[in-house]
Amino acid sequence: MQFSRDVPTNETAYAMPIRRCPTKGDLVGIVTSHQILGTYTHYYHSRTVPCDEPEPCDACQDGYSKRYHVYVGSFIPATNEHVILELTAAASDSFRNYQKRLGTMRGCWFKIHRPSGRPNGRIHAQCKHADQTKIDLPTEPNLIRALCHIWNKPLPNPETTKPNNRIRDQHSDYAADDCAVAELFATAANPTPVPPEPKNGKPNQ
Ligand SMILES: [Zn+2]
Repeated sequence: MQFSRDVPTNETAYAMPIRRCPTKGDLVGIVTSHQILGTYTHYYHSRTVPCDEPEPCDACQDGYSKRYHVYVGSFIPATNEHVILELTAAASDSFRNYQKRLGTMRGCWFKIHRPSGRPNGRIHAQCKHADQTKIDLPTEPNLIRALCHIWNKPLPNPETTKPNNRIRDQHSDYAADDCAVAELFATAANPTPVPPEPKNGKPNQ
């Protein structure tokens, strides 16, 4: 038997919680990902699940509308947590503009809230450059791996399991036939265009 004062990093690296904008109050954080990652999801059986598009998944076949969601690694100083921030496509505008201007999202300070105070109310996001000399940001998370872990999906491609910046370099190389998730995540290759939200979507978030 062996005791250790350090937890092996591979035991925790992919167990990141998903965090959404709170109904009331602000959520303040700093982005740890270089790029956003997006995919279509359904709110199905009381949880958000990825859609297997272009193949119809179970939720599609049951008539549930799909909605585009954007994911980005974020450090939350107030709670000292490293989380996966989930945003609606519309709420990701400020983040994508930041990425376009600076070439990376890492180090972007953000504050998000819902002005209406309603659970699915529109999200208002403020983004600005953070002084990284004052913050020791966690390493960029492997969002694909973390999300596949949460959603219990196979990894799209061995290349994408490499940590850190490899995601940015490899995402255009996804073999779409490896698994449906590869197809979904391939949309991250060009993060700028985000599809409009469906008009008659069921509440999802
Ligand atoms: Zn679907």
